Amino acid sequence: MLEIRNLHARIAEDGTEIIRGLNLTVRAGEVAAIMGPNGSGKSTLSYILSGRDDYEVTEGEILLNGESILELNPAERASKGIFLAFQYPVEIPGVATMQFLKVAMNEQRKARGEEELTTPDFIRRVKEAAAKLQIDQAMLRRPLNVGFSGGEKKRAEILQMALLEPSLCVLDETDSGLDIDALKIVADGVNALKSPDRATIVITHYQRLLDYIIPDTVHVLYKGQIIRSGDKALAHELEANGYADIIGQAA
Ligand code: ADP
Ligand code: MG
Ligand code: MG
Repeated sequence: MLEIRNLHARIAEDGTEIIRGLNLTVRAGEVAAIMGPNGSGKSTLSYILSGRDDYEVTEGEILLNGESILELNPAERASKGIFLAFQYPVEIPGVATMQFLKVAMNEQRKARGEEELTTPDFIRRVKEAAAKLQIDQAMLRRPLNVGFSGGEKKRAEILQMALLEPSLCVLDETDSGLDIDALKIVADGVNALKSPDRATIVITHYQRLLDYIIPDTVHVLYKGQIIRSGDKALAHELEANGYADIIGQAA
């Protein structure tokens, strides 16, 4: 589903290379965890996937279902099914979460050349998704993220993800200081939304998220490269021994 080949990318402003020859394949149906020490380039990778223009790809390829996405802008990537959960969710005062979700879904449908959802159809979908994810509907009447607890922000994010039915989900949970309840919400959401036609990348600094999400594959990112890949045993190895051994072996 996602194939990244020899990717090199730098910060547009000052030309610093952050991603330095990264290779990664994530198959449909797979949950892949990307781990690595702080400053490795994990968040940068997620921004590059989303198409943010403060980074420049200088070499390599990113293919989604066999097609290059490098020339697509963020909205076009979203319409192709790339969903990026934000590490720092934006607050939208004055716009009920429900309303925001409707706009987001209709924008995506428009970009795909599909008709707008009717209100009853929209409400039915939101209710179904909220029930599946055990989300209280009272939350949906409040403005998005305004005064939300960490856990509520995560619920809103996972609900968005469910409704947009992405083919590739990228969740960057590295520095967000999630408490254990919020971590469980994310994990339950990822597990509930696992599907044969969807790939998910969970970026995390900490092994503890992976106590709740069982990844199919685990990749260690260091200095802009994947230096080791394995299954969930690799996450446990990292928890026991830290990154030093793996970094030493790769050097
Ligand atoms: P991680 O998420 O693995 O902790 P990041 O992707 O946030 O790592 O950062 C990788 C490196 O790139 C860090 O040294 C960081 O300071 C630097 N970096 C990333 N984005 C920028 C930017 N826009 N401007 C300056 N430095 C950046
Ligand atoms: Mg960081
Ligand atoms: Mg980060």
